[in-house]
Amino acid sequence: MLRVGMSMLQGARHAHLEALFAAAEELQVELQVYELRSREDLEAVEIDALILPGGETTTMRDQGQRSGLLPALFEWMHNNPHNRILATCAGAIILCDSEDGGESLIAANLDRNAWGAQKESFQAEVETTFGTGSFPGVFIRAPRFSGVGAGAISIAHLDDEVVGVQSGERLALAFHPELSTDCRYHRWLLGA
Ligand code: GLN
Repeated sequence: MLRVGMSMLQGARHAHLEALFAAAEELQVELQVYELRSREDLEAVEIDALILPGGETTTMRDQGQRSGLLPALFEWMHNNPHNRILATCAGAIILCDSEDGGESLIAANLDRNAWGAQKESFQAEVETTFGTGSFPGVFIRAPRFSGVGAGAISIAHLDDEVVGVQSGERLALAFHPELSTDCRYHRWLLGA
């Protein structure tokens, strides 16, 4: 049984749930998802992996501080470096920004909304080192990686630009894999 925690602060959570269950079905693994809304929710369960969905960073930070979930998630992430984390878009910003969680969990910098406003959102094929073939990348008011530091490797590109970074068991993507029907990244989260 694999136990995955889903940060429910805000954003595209239900699409992630669907992608996770599709990945679990493909891999034939038993899956239990825990929806995390507060520090107490996280402290009450043992999880093997975590999803930080996209959404709006400012809202997630606000909700995360009020509920105590954000500091609790950072404690968990710092204490469990061998557990997999999939962070998408705003989730990736929070994962990489050292101002949120103390020491940065992935040595990379992201600039918010750097592809432009909502109307500049777009879909494009991303070159990925995960599996074979390109990946349908959905970019919604996406951040841009402005730097990738020590220990972090780029694992997804759009033309010459880095759009996905991995550091150990942590993955930060500027796009939304849960909004495609390709569950490669969710399969990775489940250990594939
Ligand atoms: N623009 C959002 C932010 O900076 C991120 C958008 C997203 O997660 N799709 O918080």
